[in-house]
Amino acid sequence: MKTTMTLCAAAVMAISGVAYAAGEHPGHGPHWGYKGDTGPAAWTKLKPEFSACAGKNQSPVNLTGTIDAQLPAVAFNYKAGGTEVVNNGHTIQVNYEAGNGISMDGMQFELKQFHFHSPSENQINGKSFPLEAHLVHADKDGDLAVVSVVFDLGPSNPAVGAAWGQMPKAEGKAALPAKVSAKGLLPANRDYYRYNGSLTTPPCSEGVRWVVMKKPMTISKEQLEAFKTTLGFDNNRPVQPLNARPILR
Ligand SMILES: [Zn+2]
Repeated sequence: MKTTMTLCAAAVMAISGVAYAAGEHPGHGPHWGYKGDTGPAAWTKLKPEFSACAGKNQSPVNLTGTIDAQLPAVAFNYKAGGTEVVNNGHTIQVNYEAGNGISMDGMQFELKQFHFHSPSENQINGKSFPLEAHLVHADKDGDLAVVSVVFDLGPSNPAVGAAWGQMPKAEGKAALPAKVSAKGLLPANRDYYRYNGSLTTPPCSEGVRWVVMKKPMTISKEQLEAFKTTLGFDNNRPVQPLNARPILR
């Protein structure tokens, strides 16, 4: 599958050092959002390229009725490599330098960026969480693998703090004073659920390998408030029908 490397690539490309007002992406056609006329229910109607949003293998989902599949461990090869933080009008994203990634299915996927949704997009046995991180990886052919980590409220997360300490209040980007490691987002126990899904933002491309960590991490109430205040809206797509898909554990 050849596709965009990031979940919000269109919006990122619309940013060229200029901070646009919310909802304005000059030269980028109909804008999409999380409510009203441009919200998730309308995505397929906004642009022909968004037709996959009506597909049968969409994300996020409620991870329930899981099947024991003795999943092999995913190998994480992360060192500190988050170099800049972007407010793209849909999320806060940290772009990662080359040379980090995961191995799964006998393939190598390079970590491109991680970003956040509040509240969580995926649910675990019907439970929604205050925050979810998506670590977006691509192999050499552009096939995507997203590692998801959900967060409960509790002790603050230092990696989140380091990234969000610099987050732009309006659309734009900022260099991070020290490289942030995505390792700080991962629980010590790497047991996971797995399913076949999609990007959770337009163009909703399918064929994405989803690896959802079973164990939640924590962020502080203050950290969550800082994210929500900066973004100013909930950025979670509602859960999508599973249809014929199994969820493996
Ligand atoms: Zn995402």
